Amino acid sequence: MARLQIDAVSKKFGADYAVREVNLDIADGEFLVLLGPSGCGKSTLLRMIAGLEQPSEGRILLDGNDITDEVPQRRDLAMVFQSYALYPHLSVAKNIGFPLRARRRPRAQIAQRVSEVAATLELSALLERRPAALSGGQRQRVALARAMVRDPGAFLMDEPLSNLDAKLRSATRGELIALHRRLGATFLYVTHDQVEAMTMATRIALLNGGQIEQVGTPEELYDRPRTAFVAGFLGSPPMNLFPAQVVSQDGALRVRTEGIDVALGIDAELPADTEVLAGIRPERLRIDPTGTAVRGRITMVENLGSEELVHVSAGDVELCVRATRPAGVAVGEDIALRTDPADIHLFDKASGLRLTWQEPETAAVQDAVAVSVA
Ligand code: ATP
Repeated sequence: MARLQIDAVSKKFGADYAVREVNLDIADGEFLVLLGPSGCGKSTLLRMIAGLEQPSEGRILLDGNDITDEVPQRRDLAMVFQSYALYPHLSVAKNIGFPLRARRRPRAQIAQRVSEVAATLELSALLERRPAALSGGQRQRVALARAMVRDPGAFLMDEPLSNLDAKLRSATRGELIALHRRLGATFLYVTHDQVEAMTMATRIALLNGGQIEQVGTPEELYDRPRTAFVAGFLGSPPMNLFPAQVVSQDGALRVRTEGIDVALGIDAELPADTEVLAGIRPERLRIDPTGTAVRGRITMVENLGSEELVHVSAGDVELCVRATRPAGVAVGEDIALRTDPADIHLFDKASGLRLTWQEPETAAVQDAVAVSVA
């Protein structure tokens, strides 16, 4: 069992906050990914949970017990680093068994546990080798095996795949998902790679500037980003975000800017036009000669093999459209695009917070209108 609670935790280095008032409740057995750009505080947060860094404020609880001041060795947690941190002069078997030897467990028990864990991670044939005689992926598995050998309640991982090449990284992602399922342990995983987060996480906590922007399932963050930052961070290519106005016409709301005019499917009147940040994902724009949502000109076409990225200039806005190949369009041509009202994301221009115009409940729409007009 390992439920981890991060309770209003902050970390200051000098006058600057690396982590600011972070609250997170990680349930037993979750695969929670801490995601965010470089320098957003992911590693600092993980290191505080591991006990390698002391919080400036707040508490960390493991299964309800306050471990904020506990030394790392006494926390029922195992850490896997990006650098693997294997002992070069020890064999794979000795590296894996190290945490048990340090705890003075009986030899026979260590040997049995090492052999079990090695079998789980397909390392049985490599037990007598030294780390230098292993591939990057094998070293990474030894580091994982060493973390597993104590059977900890939770695994803390800091970018463990970043030293692997693209193919191995993708294979190891699959292995980690399977391992998490098999062990049923809590995984807390730091990465700046959105593909790792989307594919492995049961929930993602997206950090920005030391604070949490949003916590939720990968689908929640992708489909209903709470802020413009989340919208722009997840997705490759990212969501098209552009300034626009929400206007009412014949009792219905529309999003408009030069070259773009999309019905929101909401019947409401606005006292005045409202400035917003609008967003549409590249895969939600469809090339259609009868489309009226966007009228623009093609500035670039990128062939990705299975699909094409068509870049369109509409007024002052540059849009990226993801189309199946062949899209049948060329640079310099005029183009018309279609999209559905449900595919428009709206954010407050000043705060970046999601506006709830699209929600079917009239109350939510009225609130959003009130908020953004105020
Ligand atoms: P990356 O993905 O690049 O590893 P990160 O999200 O893990 O970044 P952290 O390493 O947690 O970010 O760093 C957060 C901020 O705290 C950064 O601005 C960093 O420079 C600062 N920082 C981290 N450790 C220290 C330290 N020991 N002393 C001073 N500042 C630090």
